[in-house]
Amino acid sequence: MTVRPILSIGNPLLRVRSEKVDPEDIKGRKWQRIIKDMIDTMRDAEGAGLAANQIGVTRRIVVVEVKKNRRYPYKPPIPLTVMINPRFEPIYQDTVMINEGCLSVPLRGEVERFVNIRMRYFDEDGNKHREVVRGLKAATFQHECDHLDGVLITDRAKASTLTTWDEFAAHGRKEFIERITAFVDEIGS
Ligand code: ZN
Repeated sequence: MTVRPILSIGNPLLRVRSEKVDPEDIKGRKWQRIIKDMIDTMRDAEGAGLAANQIGVTRRIVVVEVKKNRRYPYKPPIPLTVMINPRFEPIYQDTVMINEGCLSVPLRGEVERFVNIRMRYFDEDGNKHREVVRGLKAATFQHECDHLDGVLITDRAKASTLTTWDEFAAHGRKEFIERITAFVDEIGS
């Protein structure tokens, strides 16, 4: 198991627009190693997702997984998903405000996300996927895709909604969990 250091806001590599991986190369040892390191690092940090540039690799690779997550207990499970060169488009224009955190940012903030998206990506075996994703899962995917374009939650959140994790726990968490649980019940994910 290899856990790599996670870069924090202020590191220029988090602001780079990452380059695509040649789909022909996905199964090669280099990218398989990096994907494995990303999974180990995400799990060790108890994140819901990780983009390659968060460990200093400026390529379009993200991993997502939600089991029982202490950081985000309200997120329904997402099986381990590796997405290479992911792209998404909104299906409708409806949006939802999500209170998000990030392994590279010591704050949380309210970010507007599309509720329904169509994702396209290659998996770790080089297979092409095209799927419709909804709700909190869609928001998690959009967060990770933002990283690949050098975008962080602090860019998207209204500044007045930014909080530390402790202050969120003290003042915003209960209300947010009530609201987002009702949203998840309605949308189904
Ligand atoms: Zn993040």
